[in-house]
Amino acid sequence: MPSRSDDLYRESLELTPGGVSSPVRAFRPHPLFMESGEGCMIRDAEGRTYVDMCMAYGPLITGHACDRVLRAATERISKGTVFGAPSEPELKLIKRLCRDVPSMDMVRLAVSGTEATMHALRLARGFTGKNGVVKVEGGFHGAHDAVLVRAGSGSSEGVPGSAGVPADAVRNTHLTEYNDTEMLSSLLESRDDIACVIMEPVLGNVGVVPPVKGYLQDVRRITEENGVLLIFDEVITGCRLSAGGAQKVFGVTPDLTTMAKVIGGGFPIGAFGGRRDIMEHVAPSGPVYAAGTFSGNPVSASAGLAQIEVMSEDGNYGRIDRNAEELASRMSDSLADRGARGCVQRAGSMLSVFFGRDSVTNGSEAQGADRTMFGRMFEHMLDEGVYLPPSALETWFVSTAHDGDSIDKVASEFDAFLCKVRV
Ligand SMILES: *Cc1c(COP(=O)(O)O)cnc(C)c1O
Repeated sequence: MPSRSDDLYRESLELTPGGVSSPVRAFRPHPLFMESGEGCMIRDAEGRTYVDMCMAYGPLITGHACDRVLRAATERISKGTVFGAPSEPELKLIKRLCRDVPSMDMVRLAVSGTEATMHALRLARGFTGKNGVVKVEGGFHGAHDAVLVRAGSGSSEGVPGSAGVPADAVRNTHLTEYNDTEMLSSLLESRDDIACVIMEPVLGNVGVVPPVKGYLQDVRRITEENGVLLIFDEVITGCRLSAGGAQKVFGVTPDLTTMAKVIGGGFPIGAFGGRRDIMEHVAPSGPVYAAGTFSGNPVSASAGLAQIEVMSEDGNYGRIDRNAEELASRMSDSLADRGARGCVQRAGSMLSVFFGRDSVTNGSEAQGADRTMFGRMFEHMLDEGVYLPPSALETWFVSTAHDGDSIDKVASEFDAFLCKVRV
């Protein structure tokens, strides 16, 4: 008998491309339609529940339907949802970010991470008067032309990463490999038209790839020496690896930072900020245009601030990191014990498994992981009540709502899967 999700998916396929609102959500035989979430659990249209390790790809660091976040949002909603004028919640959120995030002297709010990086790149170009952008292979910065680019064969020149992206739009986008300082310095030394380097300080959109020791410091030094701005895209890591993001953890301060996900408390948001002299180039104080009807939305700002406040209490960051460490180490042990080749990589409360590899240090290596094995594991986990991101190249997220039992459940099912596939 077809399930409720199956029915809904068939209907969706007729009405929206691929039946989903964002491509990563589609998986075979059909994506699960979700009905509700509470804490670390998510419930589908059939009423089946799962331990959620996808957590909406990052925003829900205090879990689904966190009391304090919901209360902040509903209190704001009852007073009106959007004004097209400044409101106090956005100022409070901005103040908090300026206080906690080392690079942020000033912040402008937006509605998504995509917008944040789009505006930040325009700002870097407007500030420097240069057009070139360097991005890291495997780094993801949202769905706009300048960053929908992948490496062309045998050079650092980018080619469109999607149909419909004009070659002209990516002509100025150059690629470098993560954790490779030589490639970056020779690229920056060979050109004088580069406005900025944009990068995730920890890669989180090819699975988790942390920086090797000294890499981020080297990137900071090389960009400075070449007069190029450094943008950390902390859409995932911001308010996740610490209140001050990855830049605080690694002690490296970029010129500009983009954020989203956690800072919206489960509502749409984006933000970019950084050095005062650069940010003052944003309209209306300067010539670089950035705008939006829902920018600085008071509901998103209130929910986001509430979530940030919850995270700042009671050693919450330490707890999610320890739970993620426990899960990662049990999964690593299982791989070793069951003789399966693979590695589990982690940064704070972000983790992922790469089958068929002993380590992954950049985006190209991540592409080489065994996706067939991942697909089989995904199915096993789903059958057993664990909802993972449906792609081998996505990160698993631990929230404050994940307790010992849920971590144990995920670790045990991972082990059970490896036992099952063992020949
Ligand atoms: C999710 C993500 C984005 C895009 O954010 P949206 O809010 O989905 O537009 C940009 N950069 C990184 C690093 C992300 O993980």
